[in-house]
Amino acid sequence: MRAATVTGFGEPLAVGPTVLPRPDRYQALVRLIASGVCHTDVHAADGDWPVQPAPPFIPGHEGVGEVVALGPGEHPVKVGDIVGNAWLWSACGTCEFCRTGRETMCESAEYGGYTVDGSFGEYMLVDTRYAPVIPEGADPVEVAPILCAGVTVYKGLKNTEVRPGQWVVISGVGGLGHVAVQYATAMGMRVIALDVRQEALHLAQSLGAEAVVDASEEGLDVGERVREITGGGAHGVLVTAVHRSAFGQAIDMARRGGTIVFNGLPPGEFPAPIFDIVFKQLSIRGSLVGTRQDMEEALDFYARGLVKPRVSTCELEDINDVFRRLVDGKVDGRVAISYR
Ligand code: NAD
Ligand code: ZN
Ligand code: ZN
Repeated sequence: MRAATVTGFGEPLAVGPTVLPRPDRYQALVRLIASGVCHTDVHAADGDWPVQPAPPFIPGHEGVGEVVALGPGEHPVKVGDIVGNAWLWSACGTCEFCRTGRETMCESAEYGGYTVDGSFGEYMLVDTRYAPVIPEGADPVEVAPILCAGVTVYKGLKNTEVRPGQWVVISGVGGLGHVAVQYATAMGMRVIALDVRQEALHLAQSLGAEAVVDASEEGLDVGERVREITGGGAHGVLVTAVHRSAFGQAIDMARRGGTIVFNGLPPGEFPAPIFDIVFKQLSIRGSLVGTRQDMEEALDFYARGLVKPRVSTCELEDINDVFRRLVDGKVDGRVAISYR
């Protein structure tokens, strides 16, 4: 099979033949139809984060494909079913976090395209106990971004605890953010989209954002603008941006008692004003993808037509170019590899 492999951090992915994997217990071999390209794949290939994957590895965790073989054991799917891989590739199922419905916190979890090979290849393995089942009739290319971007922002928005009719700022309107605008709208929230790119803001407006803020505007006080629009600040802020400056900025936009949720994962740190956090009594939360239940719900929003990722396709061979475009902020919505 052909795949795109990270052979060393910061190096271009090597696209070429590699060994077809064999499904072990509870695993299925899946022939890929499409795979979204997430900015996390860029972080993975660059070895950006404190916990690094081990090259050589195949990135990709928004893969959609057909089950072609099953390993030993009982399976909730059969040959011919359309399934996906996910960032939460598997978890232990027995630890404190797994037992209490918080499997994304499992310390023994495996991550698709990070600790196990992912969907940037013609075939991949999934753990059938954790692999999302793709809704019938779904377009494989269009549904792919739900498997990471969709479930991540859906769970992130739940974590903001914003109620219908209240304001949420979506900071960063890329792959994650453009579906976040749609989930938030479908969940009854009033949306302000914030980005540093005009194209992203246009896209956000066309997807339901009530107001947009261009954080790159010279001399603009972003917090003040958001407080003006919302009459005192946003009830929630979801940060999906890939630049660390967006993280501290969220504090200034939040309403008293508001909740800020971080989805974005640029490496590094940001300065945070202690006084503002205490006096505004803010909650700041990290949110990592979602559980299998969150995934099922996120996919259901897609199946009901409430969320429609904006996806352009590429070939596996184009992966290094797509990575460059993601880093340069030149992608609108999501790019997905098509294996057809
Ligand atoms: P993307 O490149 O598609 O989108 C990033 C967006 O951020 C772009 O629109 C860019 O213009 C915008 N941006 C850059 N600087 C900004 C700034 N200062 N203010 C506002 N917006 C700014 O990336 P993506 O695939 O959407 O991923 C976004 C981040 O989320 C990545 O760091 C990724 O690793 C992370 N991520 C986290 C989870 C999770 O579970 N927490 C899941 C998936 C992705
Ligand atoms: Zn992702
Ligand atoms: Zn566990």
